[in-house]
Amino acid sequence: MLGTLHQSMSFDVILESPVLSTFYPPLRTLMGPGPSDVSPRVLAASARPTIGHLDPLFVGLMDDVKRLLQFAFQTQNELTIPLSAPGSAGMEAAFVNILEPGDKAIVCQNGVFGGRMKENVERCGATAVMVQDRWSDPVDPSKVEEAINANPDAKVLAFVHAETSTGVRSDAEQLCRMAKAQGILTIVDAVTSLAGIDLQVDAWGADVVYSGTQKCLSGLPGISPITFSSDAVAAITARKHTVQSWFLDMNLIMGYWGEGAKRAYHHTAPVNAIYALHEALLMLEEEGLEASFQRHEINHVALVDGLSRLGLDLAVALPWRLPQLNAVVIPQGKDDAKIRSHLLNEFNLEIGAGLGDLAGKQWRIGLMGSSSHQVNINQCLAAFESALAR
Ligand SMILES: *Cc1c(COP(=O)(O)O)cnc(C)c1O
Repeated sequence: MLGTLHQSMSFDVILESPVLSTFYPPLRTLMGPGPSDVSPRVLAASARPTIGHLDPLFVGLMDDVKRLLQFAFQTQNELTIPLSAPGSAGMEAAFVNILEPGDKAIVCQNGVFGGRMKENVERCGATAVMVQDRWSDPVDPSKVEEAINANPDAKVLAFVHAETSTGVRSDAEQLCRMAKAQGILTIVDAVTSLAGIDLQVDAWGADVVYSGTQKCLSGLPGISPITFSSDAVAAITARKHTVQSWFLDMNLIMGYWGEGAKRAYHHTAPVNAIYALHEALLMLEEEGLEASFQRHEINHVALVDGLSRLGLDLAVALPWRLPQLNAVVIPQGKDDAKIRSHLLNEFNLEIGAGLGDLAGKQWRIGLMGSSSHQVNINQCLAAFESALAR
């Protein structure tokens, strides 16, 4: 599959093009923290004719996308939609709709994205009570329990299920159960977890869960699937202040994406990107969720085996490793930037650099969605072998 694509994107096409300003990207293998490889099938879907976003046929497609997102999130939540903006907008939508000025939120931080949650809380005029854990460790449930006991008035517990900055999974099920027992709503970042590891929104009692299309779904970048429980919807309905973001106000978005009601114009949906998301979700449904999780796990084990033969170790303790994001310790004396540019220039292979404190100390190798494939693993191992020998 990759081979045929390589051939069809030959340089002849580029050199013969009469339009010199047209952009022809190279065919990279995307094994960073996202975007992941978009399959030819999904790319082809995005190239179909654009129709109006209020066209009855498009409205029918919207209903099917909602159904498929409910399947992916393992939820019956009616308010399950794709926001027309990237994962960061999903995060912002979660906080601006649930929090009001004066509210208190317990925020867990064990990487980059927990820090962004704190900023979102504060921009809502709410207070963030931070639960800090070491980067490369999961969120510690006993610290969260303490924070809940010390702050029984908290409205929200927010945490990242799959920390892409560190390659760590936290126990979302346990954290959601603890919050629910105290009547606290949960906001769960599932940008990297959705479709890569198990995520049971209803069974775990998660309240607001958002994701992104460019990680384990392998759709086009730029859309954020999000789902709200009935408790979360009740909290939004009971708000005293209007949501400060017009674009992300769920009360308004419901008029466009809502069930049954006549669809009213709110904004123009990214029509072709929705075709791509629909196709990516169909592929997930055809494969099955369980099979997708297993594929991510098997390929992760194969990559880790191969890396260890090259003398490369993972930075995260075994039980908390994300199969879709492998944090690799950079060996002493190896030049991070030189090796990454060797991979990119000689092998067309993108991997991720370390973020924040982990810059220069770790690489992040993604095996997300369509990128989680044996062909990619072989290419990655060959590329590392070549780069390390330099
Ligand atoms: C990628 C990512 C985001 C942000 O998503 P964008 O689509 O880049 O805005 C948020 N949280 C986590 C855990 C991520 O990995």
